[in-house]
Amino acid sequence: MKDCLMAKVTPYVTDCVVAELEKLGPKYRIALRIAQQLERLPCQHKGTYADDCLVNRVTAHKCYIAATCDRDLKRRIRKIPGVPIMYIADHKFAVERMPDVFGNPKRMGNM
Ligand SMILES: [Zn+2]
Repeated sequence: MKDCLMAKVTPYVTDCVVAELEKLGPKYRIALRIAQQLERLPCQHKGTYADDCLVNRVTAHKCYIAATCDRDLKRRIRKIPGVPIMYIADHKFAVERMPDVFGNPKRMGNM
């Protein structure tokens, strides 16, 4: 993540994402273990539907980069102005819709 953004990164995870990983069972235990080590954003909402939670958070506070490889969630976040999306493609981190001020690598390549 740090290499992708060329900046210090603090990954956060929400209560509901961790709860969703817990519900998914043993197949996702490694993801769960990693998620449990991240900085935690507490949830006040009911249920564990994480997509709505993340969309609400990035809409309310334009200070996040949404990190997801979920196609539907990416599609929803693209509709919110000013929220960059980080994802993994070809085993590499990538970011889209990153403002130029942060050093968008695609733009820098054109300089
Ligand atoms: Zn939540």
